[in-house]
Order: sequence, then structure tokens, then C-alpha cells
Amino acid sequence: MSTNLLAQAQTTLSSLLEKLSDTQFSTMPKPSISLNQTGTIAGAAELQKNNIRLHPKLFEQNRQYFLQQVLPHELAHLVVYKYFGKVKPHGKEWQYLMQDIFHCPAHRTHKLDITQLGIKGFTYACDCGEIELSVRRHNKVKNKKQIYVCRTCKKELYFIADRVSE
Ligand SMILES: [Zn+2]
Ligand SMILES: [Zn+2]
Repeated sequence: MSTNLLAQAQTTLSSLLEKLSDTQFSTMPKPSISLNQTGTIAGAAELQKNNIRLHPKLFEQNRQYFLQQVLPHELAHLVVYKYFGKVKPHGKEWQYLMQDIFHCPAHRTHKLDITQLGIKGFTYACDCGEIELSVRRHNKVKNKKQIYVCRTCKKELYFIADRVSE
């Protein structure tokens, strides 16, 4: 099952790289793909490793979406990092790649149904790192009834739907 997923992702990745071949980004090395993303995050770009992490269960349940949205989204992060360095993760360079080169809508976050995962917690973050909030707490944040502040850094916790690792 997962070999099949990986093969599909590799095929899509190759065709995305093909789109880079006659652009200023033609020397982009092919990233590796690993199916080891966990939690409520669909995918992540590991910039220094030139690796794309995908959530295997979400991928299995949302194949089209992953191939058409998540993969180009994360690949665009890697390309931006290689050619522009540390710029805004979803800034104009990333949007240019998504829209003008990959011809994908440039959504900042992934909209996926994660209820099927049976997830009891949602991943939030602050300066200290990541923390899981229960579904009940997450719904309060979503409905703007409550904000949660980290006890250590005193900053408001924010929901991670898509992450770029440094
Ligand atoms: Zn903190
Ligand atoms: Zn992103």
C-alpha cells in the first residue's frame, strides 16, 4: 500500500520537476519523499534535507488532493529555499511558483477532513515547540471563544495545518 503511494508521489514529483526544467529553477535537485508525517499535518518540507514528508494515512484518503496540492505546495517551499534562501514561507516567490509554474491555487493551509483519522488532539505551536490540544479546546479556539497561552513563553498558541521545518 505505502509503496504504491510512494510511487504515485514520485511520478507526480517528476512531472513537477519537469515544469521547472525550462525555468530559472532548472537546476533544482530532486527531493526525496518520506511517508512519515504524523499528527494533523498533511505534509512538510524539510528544507535542509531537501525532503518532503507526507502523512501516509491522509495521503491514502485524499490521493488527488495530495498529488495536486500538497506535493506542489511542499516542493515550492524547497525550491524557494534553494533559490531565495530565507524569505517568507508563503511569500511572493512561493506564490509565483505555485501559480505561474505549477498552475496550482496558492493556498497557505491544507483543507482536509481529518475526522476519519480518529485524532484526539490538534497540533499547536509556540516559541517553545509543539503541543497537542484536545478537540474540545481546538473547537473553542476555532470558534474564537478562547485563546490559549503557553505557560513558558507566554505567547498565544497557534494551530499548525501546514508546517515548514527549518
Ligand atoms: Zn511557549
Ligand atoms: Zn506551506
